[in-house]
Amino acid sequence: MDKTITKLKSINKVELGVFPTPLHNIKNVETFLNYSPIYIKRDDLTGLGPGGNKIRSLEYILGDALQRNSDSIIVSGPLQSNLCTLTACACAKLGLDCFIVHNGNKPQVLEGNLLLNDILGVESFYLGDIDEHDRALFVDDLYSRLKKLGKNPYIIENGASTGYGAMGYVNAILEIINQSKENNLDIQEVFAPGGNGGVASGLIYGNAVLGSPFKINVISVEYEKEILTNNIFRILSELESIVGLPISNKYNNSFTIIDKYRGDGWGQDTEESRKIVYDFPKMEGIFIENTYNSKVVVGLIDMVKRSQVHGGLCYIHTGGFGSLFSQF
Ligand SMILES: *Cc1c(COP(=O)(O)O)cnc(C)c1O
Repeated sequence: MDKTITKLKSINKVELGVFPTPLHNIKNVETFLNYSPIYIKRDDLTGLGPGGNKIRSLEYILGDALQRNSDSIIVSGPLQSNLCTLTACACAKLGLDCFIVHNGNKPQVLEGNLLLNDILGVESFYLGDIDEHDRALFVDDLYSRLKKLGKNPYIIENGASTGYGAMGYVNAILEIINQSKENNLDIQEVFAPGGNGGVASGLIYGNAVLGSPFKINVISVEYEKEILTNNIFRILSELESIVGLPISNKYNNSFTIIDKYRGDGWGQDTEESRKIVYDFPKMEGIFIENTYNSKVVVGLIDMVKRSQVHGGLCYIHTGGFGSLFSQF
């Protein structure tokens, strides 16, 4: 195990956040469900900007960019993309130029993450109502233009849901193992959202490579089970080659992908997800947004009520606070 940990720690990254993130009980949810223990892992408090999971991913992705002597970062996403804002925060800290490419029109009033991007002074491009393919063409063109200006640009691909991006969540598993040991916690099952599958892959790989101490429950917020599963296995194989430790077969039964709470997919909320955005903070004083975390909490509560879980539970709050301000 020590060898594995040494190997994981040897992979290049740049320090951006404050880790480990806190892990604590959510007592009022325990009382409400008459089930304990239930813990929350506070990745909404990763220590940069509005916080969130992408800080873990950016430590590895921007670590790679710095190793390649990049001086400018190109990131793309929808208007309220948490990745775009957190990349802008990280670039401020590292002294890199940041270019944000949005599909969507510039709104009259900048709110949520768009306000934060504006305060950070990054250059944002609003491409209007186009799809991700056309957005990618613009990104490639911007890359060439920056090259011609003598810059050394770096593109963040696939919403940071890549092997390097997922490495951050391999570390999160190590943190949970250590925090459990230090505080004598009994954690059996971990809950996290699945969008493109970056967070999920890091957790699944980290769990497997460290002896499968947990069962990982991935609540899909975007795709049907089959598509998300394929994405995850693609990222898992990237992780295996980055770390150099293949898992072959050992993923068996160590994770479940649940697509029952996704509604109509990404950004398409459900009656239950809207309700929990209002109910959860009333219990714990912790806000959740309505694209990722609301669906995870809905799933966790429903699975507890249906007795589909065993032992201590740990919900990973992936942040996204900036986006909440434009969701209702
Ligand atoms: C990007 C993001 C995720 C995870 O997405 P994956 O693509 O599955 O890694 C989860 N929560 C928030 C708040 C995010 O911004």
